[in-house]
Amino acid sequence: MHSRPLIVLLSILLLTPVLSGCLSDGVLDDIIPQKKGIPGGLTMACLTNSYTELIIEIDFESGYKPETSSTDLLKQRISEVCSFSQGISTEFTETNFADVGTWSADDVREQGWDNKKADPTVGKTLRWQLIFPAESYEDDSVLGVAVDASTIAIFGESVDGAAGFLNRPSAEDVENSVMVHEVGHLLGLVNLVYTSPVNHESTDKPGHSDNDDSVMYWAIESMNVGSFISGDLPNDFDQDDKDDLAGMADGTIEVTNQI
Ligand SMILES: [Zn+2]
Repeated sequence: MHSRPLIVLLSILLLTPVLSGCLSDGVLDDIIPQKKGIPGGLTMACLTNSYTELIIEIDFESGYKPETSSTDLLKQRISEVCSFSQGISTEFTETNFADVGTWSADDVREQGWDNKKADPTVGKTLRWQLIFPAESYEDDSVLGVAVDASTIAIFGESVDGAAGFLNRPSAEDVENSVMVHEVGHLLGLVNLVYTSPVNHESTDKPGHSDNDDSVMYWAIESMNVGSFISGDLPNDFDQDDKDDLAGMADGTIEVTNQI
């Protein structure tokens, strides 16, 4: 009479460690959030030759697919600082994200991970993901966010709204720059996973450049970008950014928080 519940209990106790070992990575991600890392947590995965291939996963809602000029520029900018023997490719998927209303960073993380085609690192393949939801961010002046080591969101409606007077800059120009800017955060810029020997971080906007000729300038991801920058928008890293990346790559700059 009494032995059966005891056996059941013992079985549960004995099986528990085994079961937890069977959980999929997806489930473990919820239990171990640090596995997602912080923006810059996969910087060295890109800068060193530890991966042979980078796949840029682009998940977009209908009508929000980024311009070819944006994805081409992004691949070019990454290839100028990271080398992959099998190259950098893009993978486009039209996606229906959950209707979350206005998006928070947690929504970006959750919707991003729910829709990732694979983990950020599988074998010799590194995957970075850019999602393009139809809605806007909770702070609607924000054009893009990098929320962890592999996940970015770009808000197309807000990007369109950020086009300048007489279309200078155009929405396409803004999108070009914002995408490189957010990937710059995945590359650890500015001072996200290291401390630059040169003082070029904005004092008011941590994690950003104080140089309005750098794509990492803080205003690039802001709706008001057209009013802060006259003339052409920067869509490249400046020399200080490039020196930081080179220093991390060759080990002269110490890098922290890598996954
Ligand atoms: Zn930024």
